[in-house]
Amino acid sequence: MDANATSPTAVTSRIYLILSIAIAIGIFIFDAITPADSVISTLFVGVVLLSARFLQTREIWLVSFGCMALSVLAHFLTPYGDYFQTISISNRVLSLAAIGVVTFLAVQSRSQEMVLRERAGLLDLTHDTIFVRDMKDVITYWNRGAEELYGWRKAEAIGRISHQLMRTIFPMPLEAIMGELVRTGRWEGELVHTRKDGTQAFVASRWSLQKDARGLPVAILETNNDISDRKLAENALRESERRYKSIFRMAGVSIWEEDFSQIEAAIDELRAQGIEDFRAYFAAHPEFVRKSISCAKIVDVNDATVELFKALSKDELLHSLDAVFTSETLEAFAGELIAVAEERPHFSAETILQTLKGDKLTVLLAITFPPRPSKLDRVLVTITDITERKRAEEALQKAQAELAHITRVTTINALTSSIAHEVNQPLSAIVSNGYAGLRWLDRQPPHLEDARRTFELIVDDGHRAGEVIGRVRALLKKTATIREYVDVTELIQDTVAVVHGEVLRNGILLRTELAPELPPVVGDRVQVQQVLLNLIMNGIDAMNEVTERPRELSIRSYLDESGAVGVAVQDTGVGLDTNSVDRLFEAFYTTKPEGMGMGLAICRSIIEAHGGRLGASPNEPNGAVFEFSLPPERDETASAANGRPMPVL
Ligand code: ADP
Repeated sequence: MDANATSPTAVTSRIYLILSIAIAIGIFIFDAITPADSVISTLFVGVVLLSARFLQTREIWLVSFGCMALSVLAHFLTPYGDYFQTISISNRVLSLAAIGVVTFLAVQSRSQEMVLRERAGLLDLTHDTIFVRDMKDVITYWNRGAEELYGWRKAEAIGRISHQLMRTIFPMPLEAIMGELVRTGRWEGELVHTRKDGTQAFVASRWSLQKDARGLPVAILETNNDISDRKLAENALRESERRYKSIFRMAGVSIWEEDFSQIEAAIDELRAQGIEDFRAYFAAHPEFVRKSISCAKIVDVNDATVELFKALSKDELLHSLDAVFTSETLEAFAGELIAVAEERPHFSAETILQTLKGDKLTVLLAITFPPRPSKLDRVLVTITDITERKRAEEALQKAQAELAHITRVTTINALTSSIAHEVNQPLSAIVSNGYAGLRWLDRQPPHLEDARRTFELIVDDGHRAGEVIGRVRALLKKTATIREYVDVTELIQDTVAVVHGEVLRNGILLRTELAPELPPVVGDRVQVQQVLLNLIMNGIDAMNEVTERPRELSIRSYLDESGAVGVAVQDTGVGLDTNSVDRLFEAFYTTKPEGMGMGLAICRSIIEAHGGRLGASPNEPNGAVFEFSLPPERDETASAANGRPMPVL
């Protein structure tokens, strides 16, 4: 089959030629000197066969005729002169016939060989790797493509056992492959071969079985295509997929793989209908948002998800998002839809989900969308459980609010009891001296001297009480008042955070409406915050009994025409009696069973000490508005504030 491997080079063919001529001459001489009836001339057959190894068909015939001519010449040159004997003529004719027949066969095999060689030359032109092996896997043909792919030259490969040479790794037992090959005449599959340099080559291999005239298998033609690059890329992809899967499965955080294609299609349809403002559309069409929940297909969830949502297996979670959604989740889901519509790469929100057992979970939801225009058929949603953190935060806020309340109450308590204690003594002395004076005057005759003495004592005690009050004032004056820049917006936000838990517990909707870029005011931040806190707590108290209307508390900040910063706290509570509005700010005025009636009085003195004003008015249609204003930073204000003591709360 392999023509090139046996074809002699120019040098060897010349050697063959000289050798043939020499042999032919030798046979001729030997033939000429032996009797005419000898069969020496049949040795010319050898010359023909030798020349057939390296000459073309026409030249083989020339050699053959030459040999025949030499044979005939030798016949007549024989010195024994018996050329016309029947035996010698018939011997000569036989040897000439032998030369002719052998030449004919040699020429035929030579031309077959030439055809094969031509075909083999063609096979060398292809980039495919082609080789032929016999039924014992011995390589008999090796094309140029094979040389290039594996590194062995033809001469090195031919004669070797192919599977040993290339250390073939089969995808299935070789017997099974051979079984299929013999049965169907072909086999296709992927093999791994080792090249001459030791590196591995992945090939797509096609085997065809060659049979002889009797239908017996004689050889296998193997055509291989190098698919190493594709295989490496496939392996890298498989490896990255495997890594992704293991991260997905093992991650401590809950991960959902969801298919949003249907949602995307529904949104595209809306867009085709001319919808542009999706935020407004989803707000106006909650039914679209609700319907979309079942359009999000859950492809996979990880172990952490199964655990977090108290499922028995992941299958329980793959049906529908409905199982874990609550009424509060709808808002976050609408946010997801807006993110899809606006083609945002990420979305995150805090929301409430529920486990399959119905427990509420406060979670942080984060979604990564694949970059468009690729389909949203693989959206990753991570869910972080922040229930505990949230609970701790709320507990902290509640504790802060309670602390603020306790501080307020205890400070007032301490203040009132100290004032009471200090003033009570002279007051009771005044009362008892008053009674004594009256008794001296009631005597008949009145004991004027004694009465005078008791009245003098009353005056003394009155002075003493006045001194006590003076001392308390002096004490208050001495209270260091911090003067700093106060950012009212920030102060409102901080206070809202403190009362957040209280607001939630009471089912109140708290709204803030904050003016942008308010100038800072100068004062004691803690005191101003106590005022705001007091007004908010009063508002919450006032809505305690309200059940027939929404409980709403709104905090508004603004800049008034005088440049002062104003804050209004408005509620929808029980409201105010217009006749007693001024009395609210009097000390000890309270309508609450456990009230002190000191809060508003102290608030007003704090605000006035800051050079501002605090007032109240009814809210329309229900509730009350408490409003205070603080003047902008001015030198006069600063000195006024300094001149006046700022009360402690
Ligand atoms: P306390 O809260 O201890 O009663 P305050 O001085 O803070 O003391 O309030 C005095 C009174 O003013 C309250 O008892 C209540 O009757 C009335 N009041 C205060 N805030 C409001 C409000 N937002 N709505 C209606 N009444 C209020």
